[in-house]
Amino acid sequence: MKATLILVGTELLSGGMIDTNSLYMAEELNKYGIEIGSKITVKDKIEDIINAITYGKENSDLIIMSGGLGPTIDDITKEAIAKYLNKKLVVDQDELNELKEKFRERNLKFIEINTKEVEKPEGSVTFKNGAGMAPAVYIDGIVCFPGVPIELYDMFPKFLKWYSEEKKLKSDEILIKDLITYGIAESLLDNKISDIFTEEGIDYEFLVKDFGIIIRLQSKISNKNIVEKIVEKIYNRVGDNIFGEDSDRLEKLIIKSLKEKGKTLSVAESCTGGLLSDSFVNVSGASEVFMEGIVTYSNDAKIKRLGVKKETLEKFGAVSEETAREMVLGLKTDVGISVTGIAGPLGGTKEKPVGLVYMGIRNGNEVEVEKKVFKGSRRKVRERAVLHSLFCLNKMLKRK
Ligand code: ATP
Repeated sequence: MKATLILVGTELLSGGMIDTNSLYMAEELNKYGIEIGSKITVKDKIEDIINAITYGKENSDLIIMSGGLGPTIDDITKEAIAKYLNKKLVVDQDELNELKEKFRERNLKFIEINTKEVEKPEGSVTFKNGAGMAPAVYIDGIVCFPGVPIELYDMFPKFLKWYSEEKKLKSDEILIKDLITYGIAESLLDNKISDIFTEEGIDYEFLVKDFGIIIRLQSKISNKNIVEKIVEKIYNRVGDNIFGEDSDRLEKLIIKSLKEKGKTLSVAESCTGGLLSDSFVNVSGASEVFMEGIVTYSNDAKIKRLGVKKETLEKFGAVSEETAREMVLGLKTDVGISVTGIAGPLGGTKEKPVGLVYMGIRNGNEVEVEKKVFKGSRRKVRERAVLHSLFCLNKMLKRK
């Protein structure tokens, strides 16, 4: 089964907005074995949208559109579909009442133009929007969703479930296994594992994400046993760099492990300025183990809040192994992380270049200080310091 994606929105072509919806849709479609034949981005212009629909109809079984379902004058996706199919746009009274009710609940004023949000080509099937106003609309092999990502995420799975049942697609046709690595370059990964993939019908690719590099294996569900054997072989080769699978993330694994061990966590951050705390706070249920995150940016704060010695700072500097060690030892919880570094772009010297970061990692009395020189912008250096310290703590927690 082949699909064409049509992303509607002038802002997607003017550089005003990055299309992330198609990335999400591709991942979801994979699960149902629906292949994306092509992806077309068009302006909010009726002829362009109709041309794209015409292409999609000629070249695929399903057209999936996002954007242009709102109430404003430039929201014309449903109008284009109706025109292409030669159908009237109609409004279902129940859907209009539901929309008005949503406006009431949110204390918003409903004006006549909002009715447009529930217009649909006659004979359409709709999917309720649990995150916004306009429902998704399906008719004759064409489905359209609002452009707002959270609204798409709400309705796309509902649509796919319905569509796969309608078309009797097997949702488990495709097997996807993700192994998530950290600390090994993509080229080296490829070099180490590419010869494992000798079997027909097992595809692999690398996906570089901000939380690590994913080794993605994809195959038919009937090859499950072969995939499992390949996974085992990959672990044997690069297991030290694999921290998790599928939806695992380092901060989630750490919180889970601390809950199991009954231990508490806190962090002391200098150059990461709260990013590390943020990654833990993002995990639901973190409050059971995460006690505090202290941003000790100045030397004074490091002395006052963490008990770092003035002499240490004078002798070795704020960005040093010794300071990172005293910072992490100054935290009162069972487990801790400290980060101190030079995020740049200014402030580097020959001995202490931009990107130099020391990370103190502690579990009870065990303390390790990691030294790294990260490349990239100020933001990248800070993000890399977070990821690296999470990886090190996760590794330490696996030992004890
Ligand atoms: P609304 O009801 O808000 O008007 P809509 O269906 O009309 O929704 P658009 O107006 O096309 O959708 O887009 C709304 C917002 O959704 C855009 O400002 C943009 O932030 C986001 N958006 C649209 N298309 C995409 C896309 N392909 N990827 C990521 N975000 C998108």
